[in-house]
Amino acid sequence: MSSTGGRGRSSGTYRGGGGRGRSYRGGRGRGRGRGRGLGGGPYGGRGEHSAGENGDATPQAGFDPNVPKSGGDNGGSHDELVDLLRRLDGKSYPAYHDIESSTRGWANDDDGYTLYVARAQSDPFAKPTRCRVIVKGDTAKFPTVSYQNRIRTVALSDFLNRMFYDCCRTMGADVGYAKGGGWGGPKGGDIDIAKPTQHVVEQSAVRVLQNGDVCAQFTVNLPARGRSIQGLKAVEIFGRTLPELVRKALVYTSLDAQVVTRHVLNVEDQEWVRSCLEMQGLVAFVPDGATLPRKSGADDTPMEDGGGESSESDNGGAQSGGGGGGGSRLVHFQSPESLRVSFDLPNMGKTLSGIGIQKGVTLITGGGFHGKSTVLAALQVGMYNKVPGDGREFCVCSASAVKIRSEDGRNVSEVNISPFIANLPFGKNTEHFTTADASGSTSQAANIMEALEMGAKTLLIDEDTCATNFMIRDDKMMRLVHKDKEPITPFLYKIKTLAKQGISVVLVVGSCGDFFDVADTVILMDSYACRDVTEEAKKIVTEAANPGLQAASTAGFGTVSPRCPVGSAFKPNGKVVVRSKTSVSYGNVELDLSGVEQLVSKEQTNAITLALQRLALLSPGSKMTIFQVLTQLNALFDQQGLDTIAPGHFDGSLARPRTFELAAAVNRLRAKGAFVQL
Ligand code: ADP
Ligand code: MG
Repeated sequence: MSSTGGRGRSSGTYRGGGGRGRSYRGGRGRGRGRGRGLGGGPYGGRGEHSAGENGDATPQAGFDPNVPKSGGDNGGSHDELVDLLRRLDGKSYPAYHDIESSTRGWANDDDGYTLYVARAQSDPFAKPTRCRVIVKGDTAKFPTVSYQNRIRTVALSDFLNRMFYDCCRTMGADVGYAKGGGWGGPKGGDIDIAKPTQHVVEQSAVRVLQNGDVCAQFTVNLPARGRSIQGLKAVEIFGRTLPELVRKALVYTSLDAQVVTRHVLNVEDQEWVRSCLEMQGLVAFVPDGATLPRKSGADDTPMEDGGGESSESDNGGAQSGGGGGGGSRLVHFQSPESLRVSFDLPNMGKTLSGIGIQKGVTLITGGGFHGKSTVLAALQVGMYNKVPGDGREFCVCSASAVKIRSEDGRNVSEVNISPFIANLPFGKNTEHFTTADASGSTSQAANIMEALEMGAKTLLIDEDTCATNFMIRDDKMMRLVHKDKEPITPFLYKIKTLAKQGISVVLVVGSCGDFFDVADTVILMDSYACRDVTEEAKKIVTEAANPGLQAASTAGFGTVSPRCPVGSAFKPNGKVVVRSKTSVSYGNVELDLSGVEQLVSKEQTNAITLALQRLALLSPGSKMTIFQVLTQLNALFDQQGLDTIAPGHFDGSLARPRTFELAAAVNRLRAKGAFVQL
């Protein structure tokens, strides 16, 4: 097959002819040996830590009207807390305020930690009470190398979040009194912490601080019977369960050192591969052997062999060489030889080979149900590191890649979509396009322009979720609907001009061969196997080129017009409730994030929602663009951690969003007059 044929490439660096592609070394000649233990690694020694992660338990003035202030400040020893809880037994529920301790804390010297309690819930049905535990470094005893730079800190913190979460479950600490029993029955008693996902993201549930202390933030549903305090149950929780949880989940000597090390080094290697992409002229990499498909649309864990959904598996199973039984046969990813590149992982000491997706325009094509969207779905979360065992570790994508789709019905404010759409009926302005109900095409145009405004360098697009009239228009249609009656310049005609400006596109397309004319690389998915069909596609183009496309590619792309958010528009008019990852009730308006596919957890949405409220603090007439505002916020996260948007609240339910998803939320909020163009 032609996948092994040498291909003329303008870059000149490419070795075709079936030979192996380029190989990138870990360590990059920094004079450091390839470390297999925690001592080596590509990121070097201490001092890379961001400032401010100091475990400061001092509450600052909260800006969020919906989050209660941190509450009272009692505190003392662990034994005093236990005594207090005993004394509270049978008292009316608000007496729980006595255990609030936001700065002094309750010091458990035996177990080497201090517990801080934020404002106690006002009744047994209210949101559970937020707590923070700080385990002293000389108790936690994590080796310094395991958190010596930013990515290792994120990885180790993520690991401890998983441990705490798992231990809660194995110990049954997450189960309080059984539900039922009515108003007079027992309630509460459960401990909870943010649920980890397949992604390793900076979060506020568990953090390892620069000085080696471990800070965990979780909730306790303070136990009651009716409206009376169940003090003895509270003694069990704070006096026995919590110390055991801390000992089991947050102390190095209780954990399997090898597993900890593997987790940290694996995540650091993933980050390293991603950091190499740019220099190597790549936008993405998928390793050989990766497991891309997930168990189901509702389960993000890897598909198991024979474990896929059975309903449509006859097709896939037969074509991939006889699927067994009812389930799909899992096909691990394998790069075509001609596109293969490799990386020598600096920590894990092995060579990883796989497909290197180059800058420029890449098409992923193939028949329906052959695995095209699955590849793209893996790429679109390739900016996040994965938990080892996910199957998509090292499936990495440029950090500035944004998934683009159509999203009719969305709100758009002051976006210049004129590069794609002009001359709307009745002269509606597309340089300042504002609508509460965008169409398929205008929403997709807005999504692209907003992504470019925020500095996206790669666009990921799947025809499954595109507006067809935005993507293409064929010859016959051009003849019938005259150019000056059609407001849309299809994406097909803009793709080359985008690429010329350094914006890469990875496009899943099975229906329109005109895209061959503008593609640098064409990949074919065939029964989940990946083939390089660039040569065949080019041949088809020379036989039947679309002359209009050549002409279009010489035109300019158009202008991205920077916009400034207007602070007052972001003040919520009423209560703010995050219902799910994709749905927020923001005062009297709804925020629908279901089109923002690169959000990976509700915790990210929590952080985004707090950030939105922070926008309300922008000074009137501020000339800061949305790019500047969010870049500044991002820098603040780098310096002070996520807690900076919920200071003193012990909020363990935050995860770090990218600036693109922050912007996506700002852009979608149905707030009147949210933006003015600069
Ligand atoms: P397409 O976009 O080409 O129509 P999809 O990517 O949606 O195809 O995949 C179709 C089905 O095949 C999905 O149910 C998916 O889970 C499954 N699938 C995808 N890739 C693989 C694979 N490598 N091995 C087994 N099943 C797969
Ligand atoms: Mg598809």
